[in-house]
Amino acid sequence: MKGRVLIAAALAVPLAAALAGAILYARALAAPAPAPANVVRIVLPTAAAQIGLPRIEGPADASRPLVVIDAGHGGHDPGASGQHGEKEKAITLALAQALRDDLLAEGRVRVALTRSADRFLALEERSGIARRLRADLFVSIHADATESPDAVGATVYTLSDRGSDALADAVARRENRADSVNGVALEDKSDAVSAILVNLSQREMRERSKRFAQLVVREGEGAMRFHTDPAREAAFVVLKSLDLPSALIEAGYISSPEDARSLGNPAWRKGFAAAVASAIEIYLARTSAVP
Ligand SMILES: [Zn+2]
Repeated sequence: MKGRVLIAAALAVPLAAALAGAILYARALAAPAPAPANVVRIVLPTAAAQIGLPRIEGPADASRPLVVIDAGHGGHDPGASGQHGEKEKAITLALAQALRDDLLAEGRVRVALTRSADRFLALEERSGIARRLRADLFVSIHADATESPDAVGATVYTLSDRGSDALADAVARRENRADSVNGVALEDKSDAVSAILVNLSQREMRERSKRFAQLVVREGEGAMRFHTDPAREAAFVVLKSLDLPSALIEAGYISSPEDARSLGNPAWRKGFAAAVASAIEIYLARTSAVP
């Protein structure tokens, strides 16, 4: 069973507006908050402004594992763009829905999408949904872009304080940019939270996340093309402060005409969904088999 203790700090108010206010207030006082010495356990506030939870789809049996699938970007944040005007936010939603459909057709696990329309969600709200639903796995889906036309293929990222290399760092910086509200970057706050949350249980979560990432690469072989170094680590805000296994999949490079064609092709998306769904089911079957 889960019996998970919700670990959070006073800073962990999951509201962009409140955070922006708190950061500005702290800056106005010119008094940096002291570094926390201990892990603090505080129940997250049940703020009235907390966003509503999405519908859980799949078997009615609540003991079935729950996967939260996060379609990156949305609303006023289009994400990356392709050479022919393709928008990452539309591609991520189509991929998330294809993955959901595949998992529901198999009928083994329960599924919830962080968004099922063209709608903006802050990064903290996305992970907050997974935490509040007590998900067993969180998968965030993106499509990368870069200046280099040669960059192709998918990469599966798991959380690290430091990227595995400069490329991983650059991808994390691009994706984290989505979380700037009125010019106030939420990364400041997430770093503080993550400093508090680094403990043994989170290290264990990172190990599990890596095992899941390796399964995605294994199951995806043949169905999708991977980057030369497909399982990497980087400091993604959307994966921070989660106390459950999680990964961020860059399904391909929207900046590459070849990848963009695949990403825009429903048949390719079905293949992607089948591969990732298979990795999810194997991962969950293994972890839930442990008493
Ligand atoms: Zn993205």
